Amino acid sequence: MSESTTIRWEQDATGIVTLVLDDPNQSANTMNQAFRASIIAIADRVEAEQDSIRGIIYTSAKKTFFAGGDLKDMVKAGPEHAQDIFESALGIKNALRRIETLGKPVVAAINGAALGGGYEIALASHHRVALDAPGSKIGLPEVTLGLLPGGGGVARTVRLMGITDALLKVLLQGTQYTPKRALDNGLVHEVAATPEEMMAKAIAFIDTHPESRQPWDVPGHRIPGGTPSNPKFAANLPAFPANLRKQLNGAPYPAPRAIMAAAVEGSQVDFETASTIESRYFTELVIGQTAKNMIQAFFFDLQAVNSGASRPKDVEKRQVRKVAVLGAGMMGAGIAYSCARAGIEVVLKDLSAESAAKGKAYSEKLCAKAVARGRTTQEKADALLARITATSDVQALAGCDAVIEAVFEDTSLKHKVFQEIQHVVAPDALLCSNTSTLPISVLAEGVERQSDFIGLHFFSPVDKMPLVEIIKGERTGDEALARAFDLVRQINKTPIVVNDSRGFFTSRVIGHFINEGVAMVGEGIEPASIEQAAAQAGYPAKVLSLMDELTLTLPRKIRNETRRAIEEAGGEWATHPGEAVIDRMVDEFGRQGRSGGAGFYDYAEDGKRGKLWPGLREHFTKPGYEIPFRDMQERMLFSEALDTVRLLEEGVLTSIADANIGSIMGIGFPAWTGGVLQYVNGYEGGVAGFTARARELAETYGERFTPPALLVDKAERGEVFTDS
Ligand code: NAD
Repeated sequence: MSESTTIRWEQDATGIVTLVLDDPNQSANTMNQAFRASIIAIADRVEAEQDSIRGIIYTSAKKTFFAGGDLKDMVKAGPEHAQDIFESALGIKNALRRIETLGKPVVAAINGAALGGGYEIALASHHRVALDAPGSKIGLPEVTLGLLPGGGGVARTVRLMGITDALLKVLLQGTQYTPKRALDNGLVHEVAATPEEMMAKAIAFIDTHPESRQPWDVPGHRIPGGTPSNPKFAANLPAFPANLRKQLNGAPYPAPRAIMAAAVEGSQVDFETASTIESRYFTELVIGQTAKNMIQAFFFDLQAVNSGASRPKDVEKRQVRKVAVLGAGMMGAGIAYSCARAGIEVVLKDLSAESAAKGKAYSEKLCAKAVARGRTTQEKADALLARITATSDVQALAGCDAVIEAVFEDTSLKHKVFQEIQHVVAPDALLCSNTSTLPISVLAEGVERQSDFIGLHFFSPVDKMPLVEIIKGERTGDEALARAFDLVRQINKTPIVVNDSRGFFTSRVIGHFINEGVAMVGEGIEPASIEQAAAQAGYPAKVLSLMDELTLTLPRKIRNETRRAIEEAGGEWATHPGEAVIDRMVDEFGRQGRSGGAGFYDYAEDGKRGKLWPGLREHFTKPGYEIPFRDMQERMLFSEALDTVRLLEEGVLTSIADANIGSIMGIGFPAWTGGVLQYVNGYEGGVAGFTARARELAETYGERFTPPALLVDKAERGEVFTDS
């Protein structure tokens, strides 16, 4: 047995070489420089010793098969590194290719997750057997990090399943498949129930296929479904970019376009040229800003957030066994479902048994849908539902070790509800409120154990939205914070932590986005252009339609309350130009938003959104008045980023990663930016460039764009927003 740095060579008496992927310096295998050197050395050895080799098996000694590219290096890569990146990617690919084309059977025994680079190694094998390990995922999710699979993933999936399937099933969405679904979709050949079965299947393939070639290396191979050289296929080709444009709504994501180009161009040439084309596009993406933003957010920040960077360290982990959900309305019903899905017993309480049962019926509906779509079994769905007790009886809450309150948004009602239950639940139960606007420190005054009281702000619809904003009140203890954090993780959601303040982080910042969009209506800008600007900036919801969803009267109520509080405290209220537009919409035109049947848009009887209300043009729009499209987009993006910096100054936010993740996963800040503060870091010219642009916007559109002191300070020192 000889050693190479990250790949162990194990050869048995029958001539089967098992290449055990096992990077000694990391918990997971990645395509780093050590791997590159190792795989090249392995390719040399395989060629040199081929007479004694009967077949080759890739497998891994780690829990995951192989993690993927080395992202740490990628976020640092500038244009000056382009040649190195290109050559390094090609170096790994050439080595895999040499092993693939030797004529010996090569099998991937995929013992755990094989995402990105891991699945690319598997694709360079003639046969793929996946172990059906819990949580194991297979696919090429590079697009979700602003990248393309640059280890042969584009060239091989196109040849394996055809351009259309490769794009739709694997490349453009970055879908992560369970081993069974990977089998159904043609990503692997076999699934095994145990590691022994997996290895037996791998050996059986070698035994029965003494000489192996990839389908694309067999003379006469044609790409399934055709290529642009086929007139019928070529006739459909223009629809590809058109569909993509429609899907992206014009938002600036370079990766899907690069993937499509690499797939289509690569289909018209031989494998080696396709592989080079793929590496060129890969390099372009790696040195660009969007990939850096998305890697920072979806890899580094998300990992920091979920692993507990904002959780007090010296509190022991605890699991919740039984949770009381108070209020079985829209939010309570969703929270009950999410908790029960994670295996927690739920007591769902409302004023009447009927209302509580209605709340539980929501879980019944979601379960039935999941069973019908094959996402769960009837047995699991029944067990989930059996964990939810719907009741109007306070005594049923006995023994609950956590409480999540979701009754109407009213301080005195919330006080009353907590009074009613605080001596019924477990004496040390964690006490949480799902308020979206009320100060946590004020709500805490309604309970005896204020240090156990905390805000747990879920987003709607709860079963789909991955984020929970944890709000620490003035008297919330570290123990409660840690327990709240653990509860959010227990239900598989992502927790960000903020300090108490009106609107916390998410509600306050999204308010700026909406106000800015609405203000533009008031200035006389064509409303359809405002909506288009939001979509092309990458916001998942257009600004005026979002306002309608939230209802126009709600921000008005919050605004009036906030204004009163600020003025009572001796402060001064800065009127936003959007306020007058909302007032006119509600008071003069009686348009309250979607729930009222009319808002910035018209709505059909069944609530379906129609066209923008023609009255907007009549009452607000100044014909011919325009501002640059870029200004429209940046007014929305900057208004959110600038307020986030103010929240850092005020100490409401204490973590950059929490801000970035919260903005994308909670309030739809465009993902290509890497989050609201990474947007500032990655802006043209960096933080200084962003600051200069904010000054320009302030001069043209109003003082609200004036850069806060913290921003100016960072710009002057040449620093970026980072937790490290
Ligand atoms: P909802 O009106 O749908 O539900 C409230 C429920 O509370 C009703 O079923 C009502 O019968 C019940 N209730 C009232 N008094 C009660 C009592 N004394 N005991 C038990 N149940 C009682 O409201 P919702 O949209 O689910 O909002 C609930 C809370 O969540 C509010 O504080 C709201 O601000 C917050 N929130 C809402 C959203 C959202 O998008 N709707 C998002 C985040 C947070």
